[in-house]
Amino acid sequence: MPGQQLIMDFPVTATSHLLPDYLARGGYQTLRRALTELKPEDVTKEVTAAGVLGHGGAAFPVGRKWAVVKLDDGQPHYLCANADEGEPGTFKDRWILEHAPHLLLESMLITCYALQVRNCFVYIRGEFDQPYRRLQAAVEEAYGAGYFGENVLGSGFACDIVVYRGAGSYVCGEASALITSIEGKKGYPRNRPPRLTVRGLYQRPTVINNVETLSNVAIIMRMGAEAFRKVGTAKSPGTQLVSISGHVNKPGVYEVEYGYPLEKFIYEDCGGVLGGKGLKCIIPGGISTKVMTAKDIEGVNYDHKAMEAAGSQVGSGGMVVIAEGTCMVRLLHVMLRFYHHESCGQCTPCREGMGWMHRIIERIVKGDGRPGDIDALVRISNANDGTTICGMGDAAGYATVGIIAKYRDEFEYYIANKRSKFDGRLEVAEAAGEPAHA
Ligand code: SF4
Repeated sequence: MPGQQLIMDFPVTATSHLLPDYLARGGYQTLRRALTELKPEDVTKEVTAAGVLGHGGAAFPVGRKWAVVKLDDGQPHYLCANADEGEPGTFKDRWILEHAPHLLLESMLITCYALQVRNCFVYIRGEFDQPYRRLQAAVEEAYGAGYFGENVLGSGFACDIVVYRGAGSYVCGEASALITSIEGKKGYPRNRPPRLTVRGLYQRPTVINNVETLSNVAIIMRMGAEAFRKVGTAKSPGTQLVSISGHVNKPGVYEVEYGYPLEKFIYEDCGGVLGGKGLKCIIPGGISTKVMTAKDIEGVNYDHKAMEAAGSQVGSGGMVVIAEGTCMVRLLHVMLRFYHHESCGQCTPCREGMGWMHRIIERIVKGDGRPGDIDALVRISNANDGTTICGMGDAAGYATVGIIAKYRDEFEYYIANKRSKFDGRLEVAEAAGEPAHA
């Protein structure tokens, strides 16, 4: 049931981010048990049996990612928590960093024990000020209490952590760019293979998991894989923290059990659409996922399989609600400006394609659109597909094609009449701080 916490079990109070609160709720007991009673491979076995999927967008099984790392070659290998949460509309990892940093740290310690990692990192988004300060304070508390260092809780296991701040680049949330950024280089994604679990940070095997994904580790080890699998669905065990924003009455971060009815979540738990308006569509999991109209979400449950069957994805859990009366041309304008600005410029289809797409949508919203512009946007989107180093080129194309496929009439009207069919209202773009186009 959204609105209540299911497995996160984390009351948000003024002190919930502090160590005494976390300890009072049984914090770090799971780490103690893992270090004293379990072998590293037992932890991996339990997390694999839980079937937990990545919560950063790709939904890759965590156990399978961990299984690739060779533990016995005597060389260093690393764990990185990806806290570079830059996908527009997504702010659920921020919730964990601000309110439950010790849950992340305990989970990282257990993961480091499982993977025999001596040094781990948190790569945190540069704009996250309060989350950074709370996380860094939590790291200092944890060192002070003996959870990090040369001899964790007297077990002989050694683990150190570094919190590394990004500098504002969206693409550094991509795993290989994140690694090059930690290495002190320009945050460029790189081609794979080799996979990062084979050759990652400092050319050594590296596991990179999203903040929410990692935070599930302490929970799984506390409740057991069997109990964890009873929450959610067979293919999507557990829960998803959903950050919901836009034209919705009760925006915020909700813990949603996979398999929960999507309409019930939006219309009942989140209070429905602002101002009593009808729902036009949602962007379900970050702007890189395809829009779903009010009709598309009818009868759909919130889990990976059902969302894919309905033509979109769970993605990053960053849901944006869009009310009737919102101009989708202008919404796409905001999105394409973002992608164009954030392209790192390495790949021609992304660097040039984003520029073309942005210039085309810009002239449409200024009333200078041409009849061939809609097809040109689709053509460039399709040309980007699968031709770039990282997924950003594809993502911008998916978002564009998804919006045009469902709202082509709005683009045609805009080009023919040199204005939006919604009388110049620019709710979504205005909400993003953009000037309205008359
Ligand atoms: Fe950079 Fe775009 Fe290529 Fe990704 S797809 S590496 S963001 S140019």
